[in-house]
Amino acid sequence: MNIAILSRNPNIHSTRRLWEAARGRGHQCQVIDHMNCAVLTEADRPRLMYRGEELPRFDAVIPRIGASVTSYGTSVVRQFEMMNVFTTVPSQAIVRSRDKLRSIQVMSKAGIGMPKTAFAREHVEVKDLIEYVGGPPVVIKLCEGTQGLGVVLAETTKAARSVIEAFHAIKTNILIQEFIEEAKGRDIRAFVVGGKVVAAMERQGPEGDFRSNLHRGGSAKQVWLDPQERETAVRAARSLGLSVAGVDMLPSDRGPLVMEVNSSPGLEGIERASRVDIADRIIQFIERNHTKGKRDKVGV
Ligand code: ADP
Repeated sequence: MNIAILSRNPNIHSTRRLWEAARGRGHQCQVIDHMNCAVLTEADRPRLMYRGEELPRFDAVIPRIGASVTSYGTSVVRQFEMMNVFTTVPSQAIVRSRDKLRSIQVMSKAGIGMPKTAFAREHVEVKDLIEYVGGPPVVIKLCEGTQGLGVVLAETTKAARSVIEAFHAIKTNILIQEFIEEAKGRDIRAFVVGGKVVAAMERQGPEGDFRSNLHRGGSAKQVWLDPQERETAVRAARSLGLSVAGVDMLPSDRGPLVMEVNSSPGLEGIERASRVDIADRIIQFIERNHTKGKRDKVGV
């Protein structure tokens, strides 16, 4: 096969691992910077130009689109779809997963466990929203935050009100969420490939921080998921139309609660913690599926 990895930098760990895995399994593989692609359209002839030349035909693309360039990056993925190239994650599913509120709405309809969450503009009484999610402490999140930035724990109604009003004043969309105290700064990242959990890790935030993101100084170790956690992760990825996904869950007294599903999950931390060759699993998934012409069927 001829595989393209859409990534801004061939030296990023995850990109390099995917390239090595593709080459190791005997495929041709090229890293393409989606920000240097031009989308060319005319009737029945979708094409892509890359650094002045028309891109050749690929059998599959692996999008690794950063959150800061979702719109441009997904327009390039969409163009590959128009050219009938198989993609590990559909453009529409990437867009869907980048918006925390939208993902939560889709997952809640699919009956997936999640922390109680409220979203509203400034005219709605803040006190009512805080009460709806169970009263203080509450977690306040930017709808499009990543890596734990823009996630705040407000201990009291007064503190929550100030934070919510500040975000509303600068016209920023936020979610107000029930604080899952029993998680104690831990969360679970399950890596799903082709409808199966292939690896999982438990992340623990640094002392005194309720956020477990590795970018915020958290640590990771391998963990074995129970059947309910596995099923939740697989269903969450499926509900958003993602065949390759990192599903973040909080362990709670009422079972696993999904916080978010990542469409470009990093490989470094989880491959190290789990000792699973996830890059190889992704290439195997492409080998099995690239001729099937899978479509994104979620539609929201
Ligand atoms: P980001 O997308 O920025 O990583 P998350 O929603 O994943 O934001 O939150 C970052 C971290 O904060 C999570 O990994 C988790 O450890 C903690 N966290 C988030 N929401 C809650 C919550 N409702 N209750 C308890 N901890 C939470």
